[in-house]
Amino acid sequence: MKVLVVEDTVTSATVVCSWLTNMGLTALHAGSGEAGLEMFGRERPDLILLDIIMPGMDGFEVARRIRALEKEVWTPIIFLTARADENDLKRAIEVGGDDYLIKPVSEVVLKAKISAMRRMAQMRDSLRRVKSKLEKANRELQRLSAIDGLTGIANRRCFDETLLREWRRCSRSELPLSLLVLDVDLFKLFNDHYGHQMGDECLKIVAHTLEETTQRPNDLVTRYGGEEFAAILPETDAEGALAVGEAMRVRIEGLRIDHAWSSVAQVVTISVGVACVIPPRDSEAGIPALIKAADDALYRAKEAGRNQVKASEGVIRVAGPGLANIGALQLRL
Ligand SMILES: [Mg+2]
Repeated sequence: MKVLVVEDTVTSATVVCSWLTNMGLTALHAGSGEAGLEMFGRERPDLILLDIIMPGMDGFEVARRIRALEKEVWTPIIFLTARADENDLKRAIEVGGDDYLIKPVSEVVLKAKISAMRRMAQMRDSLRRVKSKLEKANRELQRLSAIDGLTGIANRRCFDETLLREWRRCSRSELPLSLLVLDVDLFKLFNDHYGHQMGDECLKIVAHTLEETTQRPNDLVTRYGGEEFAAILPETDAEGALAVGEAMRVRIEGLRIDHAWSSVAQVVTISVGVACVIPPRDSEAGIPALIKAADDALYRAKEAGRNQVKASEGVIRVAGPGLANIGALQLRL
């Protein structure tokens, strides 16, 4: 621990410094306010003993300037004062002092005050460590809260946030926003036959394969729930979305994961529903309509025999201010 003694009276400084050294501390002496300020900047002491009355810059001014220099840290300052003048003491605390010692300084009192300051410094350091641990834990929590525990890809919560964000972004730039909803075909039968552990493994492989199939940095594949996945494809028109859906279907089939009880194929397959919209401005209430359109398309893909991609039919109606409840959206696929 480094202690800076700013004191113009050499005899007093010498005595205090030798006591500090005896306590096992490193004592630094500055003979004036200016020298003290300069040494503070250079040495960054852990504690400052600061005389009030000095020629040139006095102790109050030194303390004021030190406080102005400090941002995150707080170096304790103990003022040394010749007499216990109440107004001096009041001012000493106001300019940023933490405590005071009346001169001539007693060794016992000096020791006691230094122990107290040390204790506070230790507490402050441990608080700082706890704070940084908490911040780290918070960042990790935030990351985890967006991730699906089983597959490690984005979860439903992340889906909701991303869809809202991309909806707004695409509405501002009048660009199409596509949504894919995908289901592993007859997954319940897969679980019944191979067990839940294999079922989990299957979902993990499917999730990562779907993720690998998307190309653009803003595309997002999420686990929507159970064996259902959803992909958000911003700035992608219906044709592009259909192509991505088909690429996903082909890749999942190409994994050749056995699915003996499936009536669709001998391997795991997916069905995909596609919907696309150019979101009108201020029309976020229309998000469920987009999801429903993709869900309906998925339903039709299943009805048609599964292991295929279907686009939503007709027009997605999006209600929005000034849109007379129609907000006609192009959606001819
Ligand atoms: Mg003095």
